[in-house]
Amino acid sequence: MDLRKRSLIVAAASILSLAAWMFGRAEQAPNAPNPARKLVLVIHGGEGDLPEKVSPEVEKQHKAVLEQALRRGYARLKEGKKGASLDAVEAAIRVLEDSPLFNAGKGAVFTHEGRNELDASIMEGKDKKAGAVAGVSIVKNPISAARAVMERSPHVLLVGRGAELFAIKHKLDIVHPDYFWTQERWDELQEALKKEAKPSPPASKERGGADAVEPRKRHFGTVGAVALDGEGNLAAGTSTGGMTNKWSGRVGDSPIIGAGTYADNEACAVSCTGWGEYFIRFAVAHDICARVKYARRSVKDAADTVVNGELQRAGAEGGAIVLGPNGDFHVVYNRLAGQMSRGFITSEDALPHVAILDKPLPKND
Ligand code: ASP
Repeated sequence: MDLRKRSLIVAAASILSLAAWMFGRAEQAPNAPNPARKLVLVIHGGEGDLPEKVSPEVEKQHKAVLEQALRRGYARLKEGKKGASLDAVEAAIRVLEDSPLFNAGKGAVFTHEGRNELDASIMEGKDKKAGAVAGVSIVKNPISAARAVMERSPHVLLVGRGAELFAIKHKLDIVHPDYFWTQERWDELQEALKKEAKPSPPASKERGGADAVEPRKRHFGTVGAVALDGEGNLAAGTSTGGMTNKWSGRVGDSPIIGAGTYADNEACAVSCTGWGEYFIRFAVAHDICARVKYARRSVKDAADTVVNGELQRAGAEGGAIVLGPNGDFHVVYNRLAGQMSRGFITSEDALPHVAILDKPLPKND
């Protein structure tokens, strides 16, 4: 081969590899996989779960539980077993469910009839397997029941008695329904019932008009987690008691895959909190992921557009935590929500960072 031919081949090869490199970069941005094996866990303790002002003591208690949830979940990420992101999500949510301070598990709110009906879901982003339970009253940790549905049943969502029998069969922790009775939640129901008995003010334009359920902000709350493990797998989970004074049998967005929870390794993992009826109608969790996946928006952009845009215009308070496959994450709640308990931990410093109400979240807000 003469020198001219050889230099032509070398030049063509360099152009091709440069193009491949640039194309590869463009393909990956902004949601490239997890090359640095970054570990990330982000949690929320619900939007609107606290009164506008809380004592330093209450703040301390809430933050301590959030931190414990992050530590517990992060330990599972570090162990790095197969399915570590699912382990982390489940472990973090179980801590929040076991605390009476959050509207999930032990601290679940009451239905109109004075019962507790709990919902939860979990999803992994690699094969998009998912599991959920709704309307359970004797399962101590609904998030574990959701995971069992995902891993040990051919179904995605089990409800009511069927979900409870499944939990019993699989030897999950079962409690008497009284386990979920707490004074604070009971008082909230009494307050809501009193308000309901009074003639209601005309429906405000901002709230979107005559909806059947008119919850007040402080009757919201839910817990959720999203995680990225060292294998680059995402997972998301959400657990809730729903909304104070909800009708018996009402199911919100939290156990609905695509509404309150979604995970896709090619897009993001999402857990939502807020007015569930709207989150179902707007398919919020999936909508955020779809914007990331198909419109190639960043997780921040996608989440802000949905939560602060469409949802807020419709009159729905809400928030979400969103985590991409490259470890970028975003925590958002809209103006109608006004506040959200939240936190994160990453392999950068392995320390829990938490915030409640509208106080800034260190290194994030
Ligand atoms: N999304 C939950 C539900 O509607 C409530 C909440 O997140 O506050 O059941």
